[in-house]
Amino acid sequence: MDSQDIVRVLIIEDNLALRSNMAAAFEAEGHIVDFAAEGTAGLQLAMQTHPDVVVLDLGLPGMDGVEVCRQLRARADRHVPVLMLTARDSLEDKLGGFAAGADDYLTKPFAEAELLARCLALGVRHRAGTGHRLQIGSLCIDRRLGSASRHGQALNLHQTGYRILLELAEAWPGTLTRSHLVTRLWGEDVPDSDPLRSHLYLLRQALDKPFATAMLETVHGVGFRLVADS
Ligand code: CA
Repeated sequence: MDSQDIVRVLIIEDNLALRSNMAAAFEAEGHIVDFAAEGTAGLQLAMQTHPDVVVLDLGLPGMDGVEVCRQLRARADRHVPVLMLTARDSLEDKLGGFAAGADDYLTKPFAEAELLARCLALGVRHRAGTGHRLQIGSLCIDRRLGSASRHGQALNLHQTGYRILLELAEAWPGTLTRSHLVTRLWGEDVPDSDPLRSHLYLLRQALDKPFATAMLETVHGVGFRLVADS
C-alpha cells in the first residue's frame, strides 16, 4: 500500500468488542489507530493528535457523539473529518450529526470494508484539501483564486454559487443539509424563505449542464452533496 493511503484514525467507541474489531481491521491494512472509550477523553485526543479521521460513536458515556463533534468543530484549530456511527438509521440522528458538523455517517451494523473505504476517502480528501486546490473528479477549485473549473474549463459562477460549491467540496464525500448551507451562507440574515433554490439552479447550470454527468446531487430529505465523476 502507498504510504499516502495510510491514515491515522481515532476511534471513539464505548463498546469494547466493536472498538477492538474496528482497530484490528484498520491495523490489518497498515493504518495507525488511537482509541478512546468515552467522549471527553476522545475529544481531548482528537484535539491533541490531529487524526486524519475520527470514527465517533453517537451514544457515549461522559459526552455524547453529537456534543464531541460540536466541541471539536468549535475548539479545534483545523478541520478534523468525523464519521459518525449510529445504531439506528434515523433521519433525526443523521440531521443532528450533520448539524453538529459530522462529515459522514454509518449505521450499525456495518461492513468493516465499508467503514475502511469511507474513512480512507475522508482521510485522503482531508489531506488533499489542506492546500489551496481541491480536486474532486474533474472538478478543480482554487481557493486562493476563488475560481473553479471542470475538465479544465472555467466555470462561470456568481459569488454565492461559488460559495455553495466550496462548502459542498470541503464536505465531500459527505452530505450537507439545507439548513447547514443556509446558515453557512447567510448566517441569521436569511434573505427569503427558500434562498437556496435559485442559487442551486444557477450552480447546476454552470457546474453540470455543459457536461455529460451531474456532480451536484440532491439527497432527498437530507440535503445536497457532490459526486465525483471520474
Ligand atoms: Ca455506544
